[in-house]
Amino acid sequence: MKGRRNSLVITLTITFVLMALLVVFTSRLIFRTAFTSVEELGNDRTTAISADLENYLDTAKSVLWLAADTVDHMVANGATDEEIVEYITRESANTEQQFDESYTGIYGVIGGNYVDGVGWTPPDDYDPTTRDWYKTTIAGGGDVVIVSPYVDAQTGNVIISVGRALSDGKSALALDLTLSGVQEIVEDIQINGYGYGFILNNDGLIIAHHDRDKNGLDFGVTAEENKLFSEIEGKKKGSFTATVDGKKCTVFVDTIMDQWYLVIVTKNSDLYRDPTYLLIISIIINLVVFALISVFYLLGYRSEQKFNAEMEELKEAERRKDYEAKILKLEKSAADSANKAKSNFLADMSHEIRTPINAVLGMNEMILHESKEEATLGYATSIKSAGTTLLSIINTILDFSKIEDGRMHLVPVEFETVGFVNGLVNSINERAKSKGLYLEVNVDDSVPSVLLGDDVRISQVIMNLLTNAVKYTEKGSILFNITNLGVEDGKVRLLVMVKDTGIGIRPEDIDKLSVSFERVDERRNRNIEGTGLGIAIVTKLLDMMGSKLQVKSEYGVGSEFSFELPVEVVNPEPIGAYKADKKNSIKASANSIGIKVNDAKVLLTDDNDMNRKVAANLLKLFGITPVICSSGGETIDKMWTEEFDIVFLDHMMPELDGIETLKVLRSKQLMGSAKIIALTANAVVGAREQYMEAGFDDYLSKPIDLAELEKMLKKYLPKGKVELLGNEQEIQETTTVENEAVSEISAHDLGENSDNYGTEDAEYCSGSGLEKLRELGLDTESGLTYCGGDEDFYLEIVGDYGASAEDKIKELAGYLSDGNFTEYKILIHSVKSSSKTIGAMELFKKARALEQAAGEANEEYLKANHDAVMNEFRELSEKLKTM
Ligand code: ADP
Repeated sequence: MKGRRNSLVITLTITFVLMALLVVFTSRLIFRTAFTSVEELGNDRTTAISADLENYLDTAKSVLWLAADTVDHMVANGATDEEIVEYITRESANTEQQFDESYTGIYGVIGGNYVDGVGWTPPDDYDPTTRDWYKTTIAGGGDVVIVSPYVDAQTGNVIISVGRALSDGKSALALDLTLSGVQEIVEDIQINGYGYGFILNNDGLIIAHHDRDKNGLDFGVTAEENKLFSEIEGKKKGSFTATVDGKKCTVFVDTIMDQWYLVIVTKNSDLYRDPTYLLIISIIINLVVFALISVFYLLGYRSEQKFNAEMEELKEAERRKDYEAKILKLEKSAADSANKAKSNFLADMSHEIRTPINAVLGMNEMILHESKEEATLGYATSIKSAGTTLLSIINTILDFSKIEDGRMHLVPVEFETVGFVNGLVNSINERAKSKGLYLEVNVDDSVPSVLLGDDVRISQVIMNLLTNAVKYTEKGSILFNITNLGVEDGKVRLLVMVKDTGIGIRPEDIDKLSVSFERVDERRNRNIEGTGLGIAIVTKLLDMMGSKLQVKSEYGVGSEFSFELPVEVVNPEPIGAYKADKKNSIKASANSIGIKVNDAKVLLTDDNDMNRKVAANLLKLFGITPVICSSGGETIDKMWTEEFDIVFLDHMMPELDGIETLKVLRSKQLMGSAKIIALTANAVVGAREQYMEAGFDDYLSKPIDLAELEKMLKKYLPKGKVELLGNEQEIQETTTVENEAVSEISAHDLGENSDNYGTEDAEYCSGSGLEKLRELGLDTESGLTYCGGDEDFYLEIVGDYGASAEDKIKELAGYLSDGNFTEYKILIHSVKSSSKTIGAMELFKKARALEQAAGEANEEYLKANHDAVMNEFRELSEKLKTM
C-alpha cells in the first residue's frame, strides 16, 4: 500500500518535472523565436527607415551637387552674380516643386557675395562667412555636408542645412531642409506597434524625436542617456538591450550617412508581451494538464486502492475459506479417526467387559436356578441386578454411539402386540413393585394383534420412558397407555403414553432433556443413577421412526411422556382385553423360563471353553443338550453328518471365524433347515447389521440373556418341539429338570479334567492352589471373576493355559518368521484373552500390545518384543504346568 503511494508521488513528481521542463523549453523556444523575429523586424525597420531618410537627404544632396557644379561652371565662364542668382532662383523654384514645403531655397556665397534663390535680403551686418553653414561647407572641401541642425522656434521642426564648397574653395552653396518629413517618419516609427524612434547626430543632438519637444536637445544629459549614447555609438548598426527610463528595452540602431544615428527603443515588456502571454497560457495549460493528470492518477490510485482492498478482502475471505475448509477437513479426519478409535474402543470394551459379565451373569443364572439357600439367592439376585444395570449402561452407550455414527438402522420384523407389551411390562413391573409403585397398563382392545416394525427399537424407546418413570418416582403410580388412534393405509397410529406421579421436571429443563449426557435437576437426582443419554436416544430413535416425543410435566407433581407412532399392521385382528393376560405374563417372567424344549437338535460353537460351558448350561435350562464344537472346521464336519434345528455360531475364532464358517456351510449346502444364530461378545456398534448382512438368521449377544435365548428358541425351533409352560408347577418342574441338565453338562463338558474336581483335589486346589497362583503374580481375584467365581473352574482353565502354551509359542514364532500377521494376530488375541482370564495381567498387557502391532503389521515392534513376551509366557506356563 505504501509502495503504491510512493510510486504515485514519484509518477506525479516526474510528470511535474517533465511538464516544467516542457514549459521552460517552450518558453525558451518562444522567446528565442520572438527575439529573433523582433531583431529581424527591428533591423529591417531601421534599415528601411534609414534608407528612406538617406533617400530623402540624397535628393537634396544631388540638387546641391548639380547646382554647385553648374554655378562653378558659370563662374568659370564669367557669369555675373545676377545670372547666378537667377540660376539659383530658378533652381530653387524647381527644387521646391520637388521637395515641397520642406525646402527653403538655395543660397550661398559666391565671390564673397551672399546670393539667395528665394530673394531674401540679409541685414547689413550679416556676414555669411561667419556662419556655421559656410564654415562647415568650406571645411567639407567640395563634398556635400550636412550642417548642424537647429530647431525652428515656430514649428518645433529641426532644420538642417546641406552645403557644398565650390571649386575656388571660398564660394559655397547651401540649401535648408525643414526635417518635417523626417519628423513624420520618426513619429511613425514602431515595432510591432510598440516603442518609439529618434535620430541623433554624431554630437548627440536630437535631430528628430517622436516627442517633438526633444528635437534639437542634447541627448546624453543623464547618466542613463550618456551610457545609452555610448552604446549607440559603439553599436552603429544592430540591436542591444539597455535600460531606458528605468525599463528594460531593446534598442535598434542604424547609421545614416555616417553622421546620424537612427534609434528605435522598444520596451521588452511590450516587445515580448505576446510571447509572455503565450508563456503564461502555456504554463496555465500545463498546470491544468498536470492537475488533470494528477486527478486522473489520484482517481486511478483510489480506485486501484479500493480494488486492491476488495481483492485483499476477497483473498482474505478465500484464505479464510481455505483455512476453514482445511480445519474442517482436519477436524473431520480427527473426528473420523476419533470415531474409529471410539468404535474400536467400544468393540474392545464390549468384548472385554461383556465376556466377564457373561460369565458372571451366566454362572449367576445357574446359582439362581440351582441354589436353595435363601442368602445365596439374595446375593445372586443382587449380582443379577447390578450386572444387568451394568450391561444396560454399556448397551445404552453403544446404542447412542451407533445412532450418532448413523449406523443404527431400523430392522422391521413381525411381532405380536401382546407379547411385545408383555415383554415391556414384565421388564418394568419388577422394578416398579420393588419401589412400591403401582403399575397401571391400559392397551386399547382394538389394537391389531400382529404388527410390523422394529420391535427392538420401539421397545427400547418405551422401556427408557418406563425406566425413567420408575427411577424418578418415589411414590404413587406409573401409567402405561397404548391407545389406538385409528388405522389408515395399512398402518395403525398408536399413541404411547407413560405418566408418573414422580418428581416432575422444571419447565426450563424440559428443552434440555434431549441433549446427550445432560442430566437435569442434578442436585435432586444425584442419587439416581443415569447417563443422561436415555431421552437423547429416545428422541433420536423416534426421529428415525418419524415420530416426536411430547413432554408435559409439573414440577413436584409428575411427568407425562408420549408419542404417536404409525406401525404397519400385519394382522388386524384386535388383541381384545389385554388386562386378563397381564398377570400370567408377569408370572412367567418372574420364573424366567416360559418354554420347555423337546428333542431339539442344537449345535453350539465357541472357541472359548468358558463361554461354551455357560451357553451350554443355559440351554440345559430349557431341556436342550447341545452338540458342542470349538471351531469353525469342527462345525462344518458336524453339519456334514448331522442335521440341526438351530446353530449358535461364535464369530471370533481362529482359522475359520464364524462368518467364514457360515460361508462354507452355505456354499456346501450343509445348512439344511437349520437357523444360524451369531453368538458373540463382540457387540460393537453395527454388529447386528453386520451379522444379518453376513447371512445369519439372527444375532444373540453375549452375555446371553435368558429371555433373549428363550425368544430365539421360541422363534426358530419348529413349533412342535416347543412346549409353552402354563403354570408354576410346570415351571418348577422345568427348573428341576434344568438342574439335572446342568449337572450333566458339567460332567460332560469338563471331560477328563472333571475327575480333578473330586473332593480331595478340590480342597488342595482351592486352598494352596490359589495361594501358589498368587505367588506366581496372577491376579486370582480377577481370574476368579472371569470364571464366575468358580475356583475349580478357574484352576482347570489355568491348567489348560499352561498345557497349551508351548504349542502356541511355536505357532506364533512360525507366523512371525513367515510374516503372517493375520494368523499371528488371531493367536496372540487368544493368548491375550486367556492370560486375562487366568489373571496373568502383565502378560495380558504385553500380548495386547503384540496384537495391536500385528494388526498394524508393525514388524519392527514384533521382532523387538516377541521373544521377551514369549519367554515370559513360557516361564509362567511351565510353572503352571507343574501345579
Ligand atoms: P438419565 O440417564 O439421567 O435418566 P435421561 O436422558 O433418561 O437420562 O433423562 C434426562 C433427565 O431428564 C434425567 O436426568 C431427569 O432429570 C429427567 N427425567 C427424565 N424422565 C423423567 C421423569 N419421568 N420424571 C422426572 N424427571 C425425568
